[in-house]
Amino acid sequence: MKEKFEIPHAERVVGVPAKHQDKQEIAEKYFASFFELEREKKEGIELEKTERDVELISFSDQAVEKYLKQYNSNKDIRIPLENIHLLRDGGTEEFSEGRVRGGSASALYGSIVVDRPQSDIQFTLMAFHELFHAKSYKAFQITTEGEPKVYRSGFSVVSRDGKTTYFDEIDEAITGYMERRFYREFILNSKLLKKEVKTLEKNGEKPMFGRIAEVKSAEQFINQLFELNKDKFKTKDEIFDLFLEAEATGKLLKVGRLVESSLGKGSFRELGEKSAD
Ligand SMILES: [Zn+2]
Repeated sequence: MKEKFEIPHAERVVGVPAKHQDKQEIAEKYFASFFELEREKKEGIELEKTERDVELISFSDQAVEKYLKQYNSNKDIRIPLENIHLLRDGGTEEFSEGRVRGGSASALYGSIVVDRPQSDIQFTLMAFHELFHAKSYKAFQITTEGEPKVYRSGFSVVSRDGKTTYFDEIDEAITGYMERRFYREFILNSKLLKKEVKTLEKNGEKPMFGRIAEVKSAEQFINQLFELNKDKFKTKDEIFDLFLEAEATGKLLKVGRLVESSLGKGSFRELGEKSAD
């Protein structure tokens, strides 16, 4: 029996033109090839990974995997070390010509870039954030313009013309929220980071978390949903879990239904537009 071909960093490809539907596998192999393309070092700004770096990356990676599995992800996307680019502090900003800071994930290429600041905790948090983006639910598309693009990444949905990313801020909020949870549930208890955790605690400090505004507005939104549905949910976390499951599986239906039944018909679509990029 012929084994089914699998894209290493996504679950499916949509938008293959009807007349080429029998060539779906060619499209899938084409998208799979992107995964190999981003292995080259970023000239001038990329650092060699030390043993410690590799240890910390693997710590973050395992936590991402554990969370995604917990929320029913059915694909274990593995990002090889060559697809993880460590840049000197401030390197991401340089590399992206000022567009982003700290780190960035490319869904299409299954790769991430992340700054290597001095603090191991800060680095571990940023690596977690980008790996969470890279390993959440993924689907690709041939757009209506005929271009290879991402279709779904976590909670976000790219329009079929490839121009708009709906729910982008929600996707960031979920990732930012998980970053904080990773800090509480993994970093604070880790032998690996014990020394730095102690120093932080002694000084009454906390690390810098990403996406402050997005997390705050998602929390407000979830509070609002909770207030309207106290008969159905015992805690706010149960609602957050629905968002997390959508992030891991790509299935937006449960959240969609909850939003629509709470805020009226069309409100889920509105949310997608409001949080678009
Ligand atoms: Zn992000």
